Amino acid sequence: MAPRPGFVGGTGHNGAVPLYRAEAVVLRTHKLGEADRIITLLTRDHGRVRAVAKGVRRTTSRWGSRLEPFTHVDLQLAEGRNLDVITQAETLTPFSASLGADYERYTAGTVMLETAERLITEDKQPSLQQFLLLVGGLRALTSEDRVPGQVLDSYLLRSLSVAGYAPSFDGCARCGVEGPHRWFNPSAGGVLCSECRMPGSANPAGETVVLLGALLAGDWTVVASSEVRHRKEATGLVSAYVHWHLERGLRSMEYVER
Ligand SMILES: [Zn+2]
Repeated sequence: MAPRPGFVGGTGHNGAVPLYRAEAVVLRTHKLGEADRIITLLTRDHGRVRAVAKGVRRTTSRWGSRLEPFTHVDLQLAEGRNLDVITQAETLTPFSASLGADYERYTAGTVMLETAERLITEDKQPSLQQFLLLVGGLRALTSEDRVPGQVLDSYLLRSLSVAGYAPSFDGCARCGVEGPHRWFNPSAGGVLCSECRMPGSANPAGETVVLLGALLAGDWTVVASSEVRHRKEATGLVSAYVHWHLERGLRSMEYVER
């Protein structure tokens, strides 16, 4: 058997392992030992949690698909010395079922899960807003009347904002003078006036800047009426912004067709 981290399965010395419930989205899983997995979760009340699911890789596993990425679950966990152990799981929303059949939606969702995990820097730090954004984003992604690329762009801008990297698409990100402005630079934190413009700034169309503001605000009426060329330009600028702030690119981003 492969060596395992020092957690104790089952009950503790006195038989009283503290249990807690958690509403969560499964972000990622990886193998542990012969039959187990470590499940990375974004929970509603406890932030990011890594927990062990025992026996989940056995063909006779009682967990089914409840602990696979994208699943919105209600869990019971036992506190462990290092990693907590999942003792019960009930599916609330099987997002993977609707995303799995559509490549574009699935890859957009994968970027969302990876972004959520990356933006939270510490385990068990409550991140209610990130949780709500992720669940809302996954729900929008499974809705037929939303374009996956736009759901993703909106999610990325909003989750970065919650993490403290809110872009400005209105006032100049440097001097604050009121817009509209037509220069955009990720390192400056958004749009720049012509006085503050830095070398290498992008010069998007005015409509693209308006669209970016609408994606950030979740103003879907404005987003829906945008033209394809402005959507494409906005997507490029959102990617540049995300890459700048997450120091290295999101691995899953390469697979999104844009
Ligand atoms: Zn300025």
